[in-house]
Formats: sequence, structure tokens, C-alpha cells
Amino acid sequence: MTTPTNSEHPADSSSDLPPLPPDAAPWQSAGYRDENARLLVSAIHRRRGALLIEFPDVPVQGYDVILPEEGPAGAITCSVLISLWRESELCRGTCPHCDGTALALAFGGTGESWFVVGVCPLCGSYVFRPSEKGALFAALAQSLEGWCFRLPTQSQLLLSNAHQHLALLAALRTLGEHLLPPDHYGFAASLPDAMRRWQSAAEQRIGIWSQRGAIIHAATGAHVEKNTATWPLLTDFVREFLLRTGTLPELDHAGPDGLDFSFPLSSQEPVSYRVEAPAADETPTNDVDYAADDDDDGEGSLQGLIDRLVTDWRAKRPIAESLARIQETLEESGDIHSGYDILGVFLGPKAMADAFAVIDDDVVRQALEITDRRVNQTQRIEFFEQHVLEGLLEDADVTRAFVPIVLESSDGESLQLVVGISGYSFTILEYEWHGPFEAEFDFAEWVRKEGWVETVEEFQQMGARRKAKLLG
Ligand SMILES: [Zn+2]
Repeated sequence: MTTPTNSEHPADSSSDLPPLPPDAAPWQSAGYRDENARLLVSAIHRRRGALLIEFPDVPVQGYDVILPEEGPAGAITCSVLISLWRESELCRGTCPHCDGTALALAFGGTGESWFVVGVCPLCGSYVFRPSEKGALFAALAQSLEGWCFRLPTQSQLLLSNAHQHLALLAALRTLGEHLLPPDHYGFAASLPDAMRRWQSAAEQRIGIWSQRGAIIHAATGAHVEKNTATWPLLTDFVREFLLRTGTLPELDHAGPDGLDFSFPLSSQEPVSYRVEAPAADETPTNDVDYAADDDDDGEGSLQGLIDRLVTDWRAKRPIAESLARIQETLEESGDIHSGYDILGVFLGPKAMADAFAVIDDDVVRQALEITDRRVNQTQRIEFFEQHVLEGLLEDADVTRAFVPIVLESSDGESLQLVVGISGYSFTILEYEWHGPFEAEFDFAEWVRKEGWVETVEEFQQMGARRKAKLLG
């Protein structure tokens, strides 16, 4: 049997793979497709033989490309993934949507509940198999018995999720592969449920990016008005891009009908979501008018709860119960985004301290070219500023976006709640509620005083003692 090298047959049956036992659990459908994931998995599959021989230690995903002599890569490597395709019945199986053989691409989950997430090289459907974490690791490790490959740790698997595939893409290009996803692509695997919840936070980001974005006619360079005809084109593009890649679009992108979508930010800058209020007649928004949500203005309605909360809060009476019910209602409706501005995407002191605690002095010594055997705290902080902080600021699993929600009572009094949102991909989206505050209370300023940062510069501008205190 020959190894197919012809790229016109990306979904070639897995001819060199042993047959699956008849009782192997089938893949379940995750309900969405991703063309870039399809390109990626079919290219790995086509080039699997050469990858095993020439690039066994290249990570499938992740920013850290560690040279083989420096130790195993910080993510699953090509050799491990391809071996698992061969040896593990958990890592391949018939696609529930077509005749393809879907192949595993990522592993992850939360708590004890883990998943193998795969992609069909024919149709691009995401598929998954649920498993208890310990059982999954045991099964995967057993499949690799007799091979000299080692599985990455659980946290390495989670940390590389949704990151780019730069090393792998470079390896595939070296092998002559051209049908590849773009460099910015990062396979974002998720629990089916978490993905749905993530999408509601994603909607907020999409709205803000669409408001910031300009539409330019590609042929003439003229600005095109954002109206009911062009707005959906823009938001659909941003939505699809975010869900496909796990990141927001950068700079210019070609849209349909000769339109270019231009975005003012590049991912090289820490992303800030503070935006100018759009002109009301120019940009349709999806503002949620909570006051109008309920026809029934009785005690149990959302407006009734808000009225009670505002009155009790102003009178300094207990508010815990109405506050909890309001938060619950907003969470259930999925309308935690208010249509108002996001305060910013901030990185918390704990996330910084956690990342600082695991810095390896040998790496610091090498990066800063320190000849002395000892590494001091100032040098570690310098390394943190130069090499760690920016990555943390871009990682949605550790940063937090704050969304203010203005609650307006029937008599026109208002308060704000603030919801902190963090985590995506394999991490269940976490919400943390703050408030109530006066409507004009500057929450962003308050979190800055607590040591949260929105940019690398904010951290750099702190005094040495403050930095040391924050990082523990
Ligand atoms: Zn398929």
C-alpha cells in the first residue's frame, strides 16, 4: 500500500492505521465546522510520514518552540499526535457527518471531565469523545507504550489550546505543503457547552470590533457607510473569524462585494476594548433595554427587582437577595453583555503572581545573558516584563474583561453592576460580579489601584517596590 502524497485527496482513508475494534465509541458531533482546522488536520495527515521522521519534536500547537536539545516541547508534538492516531481508538473514528475519518487534534477539559476533540479532514466538522480525566490519560499513555514518546502534562495541553501553529506550519511548508491555514490561526477546542457560553461573551467583542471597524471599498479606497446593508456583512465576518480562529481580526481583511474591512488594532498591542460611543444614527447596536424586557411590572419582574435594589441600596438596606436574583436572571438570559462599553481587558495580580512564581532562573539567566550564578528578584521582574507579561495580557484564559451593566429604576435612578468575564476555550467561562456602584463610579480606575493592568506599560510604570509586592 502506498502513502498518498497527492494533496487532491486530503481525506484519504487512513490506510496505514490498524482497524478499530468494532465496539470503539463513536465520535460525537460538536455541531460546528472549521475550514482552517480541516486544512490543518488534512495537511498533518498527508505529511505524517515525513513529519515523524523530520519533525518529531515540533509542537502541533503553542507559542513555545523549544529546541530538541533543550527538552520536550511544551505542547503535544507531531510524533505524539501521529502515533496516537495509529495506536489509540480514542483518537480516530468515522465522522458523524460524512465518510471521512475524523482525527484527534486536541485534548482538554475541566475538572474530571475531559474530551478528545477531533476534526474531520474531509468536511471540517469538530467531533469529540468525553472521558474521565484519569481514564483518558491512562488510555493515551497505554497507547504510546513501546514508543519513546511522552505525553505532555495536563496543563501543557490546556495552555497550548487556541494558540498558533507557527512551528508546525513552518515544518509543513518545508515539506512542500501549501494548503494550510493562515499563520494567525489557532485551533480553539472547547467543551460543547463552554463554547456556547463563550459565544455570548464573544458577541460582545464582535459588537465592539464592528463598531471600531471601518468599511472601505476596495476598488476606490472610499469609506463605506455602516448601514443596515453593510453592518451585517461586517459583523458576520468578525463573528466567523473569531469563532474560527479564537482571535479577533487584525488590520485589513477582504470582505464580499469588493469591500475591505479595516481594523485599527494589531495584535502586537495589548488589546483594549475602550471605544468611542458610536454615533446613534450611524451604527445599529444590539443594546439590551432591560427596563423594557418585562411587560409585567410586578414584584417578580426584572424591572421590579431592579426598582427594589436601587431603592434599598440608596436607603442602605440589605440588597443581597434582589442582587442575587438580578444576576441570576441576567446570566440565564445570556444577556450579561449590556450593549454598553467594555471597561477594558485587564490582567489581575493573581494571574501575574502565578506566572511569576513558575519562572525558571536558568531561563532568566539565559535570556538576560547573566554570567553570575545567582539571579536576583530585580532580574526576574525584568524578565517577566520583557518576556512573560505581554503573552499573559493576550491570553483570554487569564485576563478578564469587565462589562458594566447599568440598572435603571422606573423613577430614573441608576446603578451599575460590573461583571468580570474570563476564560475561554477549554476553561468554562467564569463570571464574577462586582457592585453595585454609583453609575459614574470609575471601576477601571479602581481595579488599576488594586494592581490590575491593561497594558505592559502600566506595569512598567509602577515603582520597583509595588511590582515586587504584586508579584509576591
Ligand atoms: Zn466529515
